[in-house]
Amino acid sequence: MTIFPLPAFQDNYIWIIQDKDSSDIWVVDPGKADVVLNYCHEQKKTLAGILITHHHKDHTGGVAELKQYSNCPVYGPEHLTDLVTHPVDENDLIQVLSLSFKAITTPGHTLDHLCYFSAQEPPILFSGDTLFKGGCGRIMEGTPEQMLAAMMKISDLPDDTLIYGTHEYTLANYRFALSVEPANQDLIESNNASQKLRAVEKPTLPTTLSLEKKTNPFLRSHIDALKVQAAQQLNEIPAANSVAAFSQVRRAKDSFS
Ligand code: ZN
Ligand code: FE
Repeated sequence: MTIFPLPAFQDNYIWIIQDKDSSDIWVVDPGKADVVLNYCHEQKKTLAGILITHHHKDHTGGVAELKQYSNCPVYGPEHLTDLVTHPVDENDLIQVLSLSFKAITTPGHTLDHLCYFSAQEPPILFSGDTLFKGGCGRIMEGTPEQMLAAMMKISDLPDDTLIYGTHEYTLANYRFALSVEPANQDLIESNNASQKLRAVEKPTLPTTLSLEKKTNPFLRSHIDALKVQAAQQLNEIPAANSVAAFSQVRRAKDSFS
């Protein structure tokens, strides 16, 4: 089983799931069809299924065209009735080649956001725009409370889970992360390693849950020093409860330049 990205737009990754002995592939969040069609054509692969994490165009824009070429199942949020053939809800199981994935609802970035988890070794999570390396999605439709709950759901997965987000936002995320935790050694090291990867245009993804717990401010908004820094950037006093603290870190990132 291999998972690798086809880059699309400025900073999207369309993840391809491919088995060694099969010509079938699955794709996650095909925002663009031609990238996937070219790959299938060049490598003589057949599109066998699509996973969608949420409704945004950069994640779904290629689905209608791909369906014209392949009669494959499309798993995703129920309300996307034009695109989705198999509506997905919490804990639904989806067989993807030799892997079984479980759907996890993670409203926050959007209300319909889903992540897909496979408990194989090592475990895998397609996190869409919910969790990025060093960051999380903007809260565009949900509430800070929902987004924090999504972070906690992901935190409960095994520490060695490989996390595949949809965007290459790592370096920008780390600039903010370092502003709230300048002395975090794991963060400094991961930033250096990621800078080296980007210098040669390699993806910084996947990340691991254990690294994110040590470096991602949105999984660390309970840490006092980080809270104080985020509050300071907003000229506010540090929040008194966990939702307010998470919201403060998210707002500090939104206004960070
Ligand atoms: Zn999005
Ligand atoms: Fe996106």
